[in-house]
Amino acid sequence: MSSDTGIIYECVRCGHRVSSEELKLYDDVRCSRCGYKVLKKIRPPIVKRVKAE
Ligand SMILES: [Zn+2]
Repeated sequence: MSSDTGIIYECVRCGHRVSSEELKLYDDVRCSRCGYKVLKKIRPPIVKRVKAE
């Protein structure tokens, strides 16, 4: 399944953002900068292409 690719997690403590791919490297959900274990899932910015007419 690739539904979780591109998901970004943000540390609630320091605001550091970690990708889901990066979290898999550690096999744990924690901030790679400060080590805090509470991360909130945020959506990556989706660029909508709207045709202006
Ligand atoms: Zn952090």
